Amino acid sequence: MLAWVTLLRLSGARWPWPYVWILALLLVVVYDPWSLLQAGFWLSFVAVAVLFATDDPAPTRHESSGAAPRLAARRQLGEATSAIRSQSALRWPWQSQSRSGESRDAPDPRDDLFVHEAQPPPAPGNLARLHTWLMPALQTVRALLREQGLITLALAPLSIVLFGQLSLVGLLANLLAVPWVTLVITPLALAGVVIEPLWQWAAAASGWWMGLVQTMAGWPLAVLSLPVPPWWLALPAGVGALVLALPLPWTLRCMGLPLLLALGVWRPPAPPPGQFELMAADIGQGNAVLVRTHKHTLLYDAGPRYSLDSDAGQRVLVPLLQAGVIQLDRLMLSHRDSDHVGGAASVVAMQPQVDVWSSLEAGHALLQGRDNTRCQAGQSWDWDGVRFSVLHPAPAAYNAQSAPKPNTLSCVLRVQGTAQDGSDTRSALLVGDIEQAQEAQLLVRAAASPLDASLKADLLLVPHHGSKTSSSSEFLAAVHPQTAVVQAGYRNRYGHPAPAVVQRYADLAQSYAPDAPLQWVDTPHCGAFVWQSWQPANSQCARQVLQRYWHHRVP
Ligand SMILES: [Zn+2]
Repeated sequence: MLAWVTLLRLSGARWPWPYVWILALLLVVVYDPWSLLQAGFWLSFVAVAVLFATDDPAPTRHESSGAAPRLAARRQLGEATSAIRSQSALRWPWQSQSRSGESRDAPDPRDDLFVHEAQPPPAPGNLARLHTWLMPALQTVRALLREQGLITLALAPLSIVLFGQLSLVGLLANLLAVPWVTLVITPLALAGVVIEPLWQWAAAASGWWMGLVQTMAGWPLAVLSLPVPPWWLALPAGVGALVLALPLPWTLRCMGLPLLLALGVWRPPAPPPGQFELMAADIGQGNAVLVRTHKHTLLYDAGPRYSLDSDAGQRVLVPLLQAGVIQLDRLMLSHRDSDHVGGAASVVAMQPQVDVWSSLEAGHALLQGRDNTRCQAGQSWDWDGVRFSVLHPAPAAYNAQSAPKPNTLSCVLRVQGTAQDGSDTRSALLVGDIEQAQEAQLLVRAAASPLDASLKADLLLVPHHGSKTSSSSEFLAAVHPQTAVVQAGYRNRYGHPAPAVVQRYADLAQSYAPDAPLQWVDTPHCGAFVWQSWQPANSQCARQVLQRYWHHRVP
């Protein structure tokens, strides 16, 4: 945009700002159509448009920050700028004509230049000298504050839609960054071309600045996390913010406020009492299932670790929780394998209040300095009319002579919704990586006490990602799921789900009524899977809902 504006200036053309802005936008989009999908594109162009639309023309501000001796020069400049303005500046219909060509005779009180000129000439003396030095400085600060305030206001809805956050400390950071980068870092960096050691100074100035910004980001209330709103709320909020920022009469501007504030009040709808929503997150090869009731949330497993510095918690689960402003009540880690606990440290770091339940051994790195409830069959609790029961492992399993294989200790959790009359509605069974031996144990316990340990479930998280070690036909017959969800990575190296297991589910489906077939869901085809106990037929696959023509279609 700078290049474009410079080119226009050099050619002597004076265009109204919307033309300059739209053409710069078009050039960027033609050069890189994908920029439309980038947050930076929208943030930059909206910010620049707001500044263009609300700014006093730039020459005025530069002059007003000068000192009294420039008054004579200003008069000449004033005529020139007025001439330019009458050509270049687009006026809103409600703006007074006094700001264009005829403004010399009828100064606009909002115009800094003329406000300054309209003051009675200061009496000589120390006070007057202080006055002439202080006023321009104050005006510069005022202009900076005004610009940053406008930008923060106008970009608030975009920031919430794009990031689910509103940076409150950003206003202060920008106020400090503008003079520091302009007056210190940039001159030092440029001067370094001639005097090389100055680059070290520039680096030190940048380093010091980054340190300060990071400290500020750590302040309480530095960032306000808000749920990402649906488009029908985001669009009016965007209009509201623009109306607030534009130089309209205040009665009109205030009408934008409720539209903007609606974003702060809106919360994503929660499941009704007695019902629950389940989301199998798109975390690749591993398990991570979010279970929400009317007022509570449980995360079952925290997905895999991807590399030394990246895991499912940091890349998927923390942003997911932030986008919905979800406070976790409980984190259940089924067992110690890294495809189940790889993201746990990131989740716990973000939500230190969370109550951890697991089959991890005492002294495990994840449990350092925090309480852990060991999950064992027989435990249960009720959240908002939804019953959670732990079905496995049996307490005795922890006391085995030789250390048991982690998979065999997987916490198995059954979630049961209830209707208002107390009768059972739909249910889900989350089983981690249990193998056929543990499935057999579950069947024995279910037979012994059918009420407490029933395996019947409408949704089954397929055991061990569809490994051939699990999903015995007897177990599947007992669960009799309406929906089977495999959380496994695309082309994972274990070959999950195993073809033999897929066939077992297909065989099971033969016995289903044609009007209620078995729904088979896997992460590579579906992405994140959302299922609601009160309307299971409306389950959603993120990859289908958000499908675009340029996305890879998994064969
Ligand atoms: Zn696993």
